[in-house]
Amino acid sequence: MAAGKSVLLVTVDCLRADHCGFMGYSRPTTPFLDNLAGQSFVFPTAIVAGAPTYYSFPAIMASRYPFGLGREMIGLAAGEMNLASAFKLAGYSTAFFGAANPYLSARFGYDHGFDTFRDSLDGNLTPLSNSDHASANQGNWAGSLNRSLDKISHRLGPLGAAYDELYFQYCQRWTTKPPKSLDALRRFPAADVIVDQARTWLASLGENPFFLWLHFMDPHSPYYPTEKGLEILGEKNVTPLRVRYLNAYWNRSDLGSKRLLRRRENVMAFYDAGICWVDAQVSRLISALRQFNLWENCILALTADHGEEFLEHDGRYHAPFSLVEQLIHVPLLLRVPGAAKKDLPAAPFSLLHLAPTLLDAAALPIPAEFSGDSHWQDIQEGRMESGFAIAECIASCTNPFRPELRRGPRLLAVRGARHKLVLSFETGTASMFDLKSDPEERKPLSQKAAKPERRQMLQIALEHLKKQSGRRHSTAYLRTRIREIKLSLAAGEPRSNRNRAAAP
Ligand SMILES: [Zn+2]
Repeated sequence: MAAGKSVLLVTVDCLRADHCGFMGYSRPTTPFLDNLAGQSFVFPTAIVAGAPTYYSFPAIMASRYPFGLGREMIGLAAGEMNLASAFKLAGYSTAFFGAANPYLSARFGYDHGFDTFRDSLDGNLTPLSNSDHASANQGNWAGSLNRSLDKISHRLGPLGAAYDELYFQYCQRWTTKPPKSLDALRRFPAADVIVDQARTWLASLGENPFFLWLHFMDPHSPYYPTEKGLEILGEKNVTPLRVRYLNAYWNRSDLGSKRLLRRRENVMAFYDAGICWVDAQVSRLISALRQFNLWENCILALTADHGEEFLEHDGRYHAPFSLVEQLIHVPLLLRVPGAAKKDLPAAPFSLLHLAPTLLDAAALPIPAEFSGDSHWQDIQEGRMESGFAIAECIASCTNPFRPELRRGPRLLAVRGARHKLVLSFETGTASMFDLKSDPEERKPLSQKAAKPERRQMLQIALEHLKKQSGRRHSTAYLRTRIREIKLSLAAGEPRSNRNRAAAP
């Protein structure tokens, strides 16, 4: 039997830092976690190593930058050492319960090291999308008539906009049946379903300590929160039809920011209600741990893989077109039994360091393969090295199932405590921001401003890029390619370019 503390890792898709109560949000989205934050380490500036999901999780799970094994590698390499395999080696029982994010699947190597791995996907490995695909787009006669009218109307200038409006209203009102409930619209299992699975697994555990990873999708678009989540947030009289209408409106590509902004608060309330439901379910999970006498010896880390945009920079959702704070700044709450809470300074903490820090907090060895370092000692003393965090993505890779998109130009951000440098290899630009005087990242500094800081951050970016190209590992790459081919054959692909089906 292994000794030691158990570890619960909770990751919440799309949860941006500034929408959590314990990070200063004005709406009561996280009452339970706010209370827990009173006895936890709260990281003021936790920064993801990449965004979205597929560029973020290699750092969270394997303490590796997303392009450390080459930009074509999505997810973990076959058999790559990660948090689960490290705990497994130490004799822990390990389990993952996820809410159907296709990028957190065996296909992308995340099952390695887990005794139990339930991704809720039922083999459905299609890329995520934000819409419901209103049925007038289907391939029936009405659909083709609509498409013909669409083409004609766009040749007629302002008539095109009027057509778009009419067409949208027509799709919403006439071509789809009113939804019966929010549950019927939801794309992903809600947090209570995932917690039920985890609870059953916890009840069956033997004496071993455990590593349990839960991934929630409640705040992910399309935003279909539970009725109870809306209730907790105080949102009343919201019908499923209204929620579907607003989601479809928010997803329109024919509207400018000005018109979309009119619905921003409504849509954001649905996103916030998703966070409320996660908070309530984490509370329920911890009650279960208490009931099984497991909580007193359990470390908890709660964080996110990236945030979400609500038009702050004209963007919606979280596609890899930028690395603004709304996307890279995430909450990180760490509760370690027996460790006294200390306030942490605002220096950036890269999620690259989370896995080694967790292992260290559980008094376990840190695998040599990990790129990050444990900060456990510093954290206990209320210190945080004033370093830099790097976040990156391939700007055009909106669908990583298509290998040709993975090879696009990189976007890289170096985040310091005050300054942030964003390098676009597509446009060849370097934009520097002073987050103290310009927290909303609206005014890039002139080339002449903050020269020493700019030089230092460029140097950090350069060293990072050099290190990355030196670390590529062709055996890992080939093993992973073989895994991908095997899995696509087993799944009867190709179907990877198809859009995800409409909500059940
Ligand atoms: Zn994600």
